[in-house]
Amino acid sequence: MNEKYNVDIFIKEDAIGNFPDFTGEVLKNEDNIIGALRGIDDVLSKLPRGFIDELCSEIDENSLTGVNIYITGKLSSNADDAISSPVGYAYSDNDLKRNCIVLDGEQSMFNIKYNMQHELMHIIDNRISKYSDDFQSWNNFLINDAKYNYSYIGYENDYSNTVVDSDSSEGICFINTYSKTYPNEDRAEIFKLLFYDGDEIPSELSYPIIREKAYYICRVIRENFKSVQSEDKVYWERFK
Ligand SMILES: [Zn+2]
Repeated sequence: MNEKYNVDIFIKEDAIGNFPDFTGEVLKNEDNIIGALRGIDDVLSKLPRGFIDELCSEIDENSLTGVNIYITGKLSSNADDAISSPVGYAYSDNDLKRNCIVLDGEQSMFNIKYNMQHELMHIIDNRISKYSDDFQSWNNFLINDAKYNYSYIGYENDYSNTVVDSDSSEGICFINTYSKTYPNEDRAEIFKLLFYDGDEIPSELSYPIIREKAYYICRVIRENFKSVQSEDKVYWERFK
């Protein structure tokens, strides 16, 4: 898989990297590791050809020129303002010059795919935001007093403007409460929705703002990556 997709995957003791503000347990269970590898492979196999190379191409001396994926056991955060039970992380290692994705391999295959799709969007997002201002006007999508919390604390019960907010069918702009934490989490959650395994249009896309945000993400990714432009429709664009 490392050669096929140009990523470096780390397992067992090797998967405990120099993580910034969280720790991971060593995952030794072979079935879990194989399950996680299958989930990761499934996601990577749906990317357009050459996408990872392009995502990690060297533009300047600060470019991150590769993707490391660490499969660990249970993850815990050391930061006070972090989510209580994290299942994945994406961060930039500027010393190694690598994009890093850390996944809790004890999750179900379904969740591992979801988490991989979500963390992958963070890497795509970081790259786009570093070299363009395409997501600068993202907050224009907020309507009817909707806002981001800019915090990971207490988001779980804040349903306003989400699809389960029955009082506000006019002001629905988030697919879930986690999407409300930060703009980049919103984008990662929408990307995950677009990337899911099925062919049925996700019901969340019936809300106009969410649909517009989803199409906007597709357009921005397309504009920033030639590997996407070389295909008429990539996997996450199949609902357009
Ligand atoms: Zn995230």
